[in-house]
Amino acid sequence: MAEFQRHEHDVLVIGAGGAGLRAAIEAANGGASVGLVCKSLLGKAHTVMAEGGIAAALANTDERDNWKVHFADTMRGGQYLNNWRMAELHAKEAPDRVKELEAMGAVFDRTPDGRILQRNFGGHKYPRLAHVGDRTGLEIIRTLQDFAVHQPIDVHMECTIVSLLKDGNRIAGALGYDRERGRFKLFAANAVILATGGIGRAFSVTSNSWEYTGDGHALAYNAGATLQDMEFVQFHPTGMVWPPSVRGILVTEGVRGEGGILVNREGRRFMFDDIPENYRNQTADNEEEGWRYTQGDKSARRPPELLTRDHVARAIMKEVREGRGSPHGGVFLDISWIGAKLSNAEDHIKKKLPSMYHQFKQLADIDITKEPMEVGPTTHYVMGGVRVDADTQMSSVPGLFAAGEVGAGLHGANRLGGNSLSDLLVFGMRAGKYATEYAGRQSKPRVDANQADAIVRGALEPFERAEGESPYKVEHDLQTMMQELVGIVRREDEIRRALDSLKTLKQRATQVSVTGNREYNPGWHTALDLQNLLTVSEIVARAALERKESRGGHFRDDFPEKDPSYGKFNIVVRRGPNGEMQVSREPIPEMRDDLKRIIEENK
Ligand SMILES: Cc1cc2nc3c(=O)[nH]c(=O)nc-3n(C[C@H](O)[C@H](O)[C@H](O)COP(=O)(O)OP(=O)(O)OC[C@H]3O[C@@H](n4cnc5c(N)ncnc54)[C@H](O)[C@@H]3O)c2cc1C
Repeated sequence: MAEFQRHEHDVLVIGAGGAGLRAAIEAANGGASVGLVCKSLLGKAHTVMAEGGIAAALANTDERDNWKVHFADTMRGGQYLNNWRMAELHAKEAPDRVKELEAMGAVFDRTPDGRILQRNFGGHKYPRLAHVGDRTGLEIIRTLQDFAVHQPIDVHMECTIVSLLKDGNRIAGALGYDRERGRFKLFAANAVILATGGIGRAFSVTSNSWEYTGDGHALAYNAGATLQDMEFVQFHPTGMVWPPSVRGILVTEGVRGEGGILVNREGRRFMFDDIPENYRNQTADNEEEGWRYTQGDKSARRPPELLTRDHVARAIMKEVREGRGSPHGGVFLDISWIGAKLSNAEDHIKKKLPSMYHQFKQLADIDITKEPMEVGPTTHYVMGGVRVDADTQMSSVPGLFAAGEVGAGLHGANRLGGNSLSDLLVFGMRAGKYATEYAGRQSKPRVDANQADAIVRGALEPFERAEGESPYKVEHDLQTMMQELVGIVRREDEIRRALDSLKTLKQRATQVSVTGNREYNPGWHTALDLQNLLTVSEIVARAALERKESRGGHFRDDFPEKDPSYGKFNIVVRRGPNGEMQVSREPIPEMRDDLKRIIEENK
């Protein structure tokens, strides 16, 4: 039998980003014994990279804002595929979660009278994003971490979970290895909360960190949970495109929120060319009105640069494809032009967008206070994930919960900027609360030693192959293939080619080998991550094939229009009894009348 360090917890939280930390705090406050596992060092989770802000209808900057407008904006942005109950809870509870964060010590930017300042972001009718310059994620992680380390939470950092454990149908814990020494750890737990983030590393151009290999999505799928909306991958419109070594790094939407404009190589502001019908009433039809909006004029409508991300990304692709792009295959994002409007523009840009200023100065030798940036779409976020109960966050597997980017439902076909950070707090807190309640009702699960042994044997296989291929090579080929064939614009023949290619890549992955020993061995880590990347890539491709229309983050060149019949269901994927991937359609429940009215009133 394999050797394990053994740990027992009522609630095991996998992931220490915003969702995982918030869940762990709630579970500890509820009296559960809590284990918190994360792949990187505590404080280094992907949430730390979040820039622009956290969306909550605090109405500090515009008193017309309230939860109803936020709810309607989120549903419109998600093209009505959202789980409307989650959208309701999120809009109602986000203000309290932000205030609570402030009480824990988060220092947000301030209005002149000392309240939390809020900024404009795409798809939000009113300025709604509480922020700390463009380093909001850092402040959120710092605050939650400071708070969490004073709670009775056992932290297991630099530990990667490779499989969930089950006792019959219910969850029994998880098995992982510590990255430093390569020793296996077995966690027995009554309830497990997945808070593992996203899948962006399945694509070659991405804003996502190395941790984003879809582990939680794959762990849940392999454990029998249902995934939904996986065809909806968000390609953020503005990533860096030059130099090649930094391609994909995010350029926050905050730049456009502060007045940044998008222009093509002819110097034309192309975003005015195509304003979608459902946003026409809310969008400025001239440059002057757009500028006034960014400066807080409440009678003005927002500029078309602040349309939803899916739309802006496709508008940029159109310019590039039709030969009006920038020299390195993007378009220009210009904030320096506000120098013509504000006497203190340079200081203003440096104050509101300090990270962007440094990012371009250091990585591209561009001074954004004086020159435009070159930007293009980058893989950023996955709207799809584990299908959960809206109130409790429990998945279809008893005892398995999911919160944050790994969960699905809130964002539908497209996420609005800022709605992820609030998602983490609202549903992280709920997952922590309900997992604790669930765990308290259960007897200790039975952990099957044979199950654990088999997982360890599988994880060590790459060491046993002497002449296999490098896992990095297979990973690289997978990312390139997904970017080309299942990326921002999709076609049936290309998705089918992707599925064929995935068969070959999976075969190659079974033959990869790693050298050296188990102590901090990145090749081995990559060989294990690769399994998850392959699983999530196939799920994305199969869901993308099933949705024969264009909506939100999913654009089909062969079905470029939205088809109303596809607005009535979510596409779900689960593992069949023989290990086959099953794709089906799950009808969206009829929305409550009071919520329907809110949407009508906010059209
Ligand atoms: C550059 C950038 C800027 C962004 N800006 C914003 C913004 O301004 N506003 C906004 O709302 N959203 C923003 N987002 C999106 C947002 O940051 C993420 O969606 C969010 O932080 C995800 O948080 P999370 O808690 O779900 O996961 P994460 O913060 O990614 O945490 C995941 C955790 O899971 C752990 N983990 C993963 N796999 C395993 C495993 N197998 N075993 C053990 N642990 C594991 C990781 O180590 C990590 O601790 C931005 C994203 C990027 C990339």
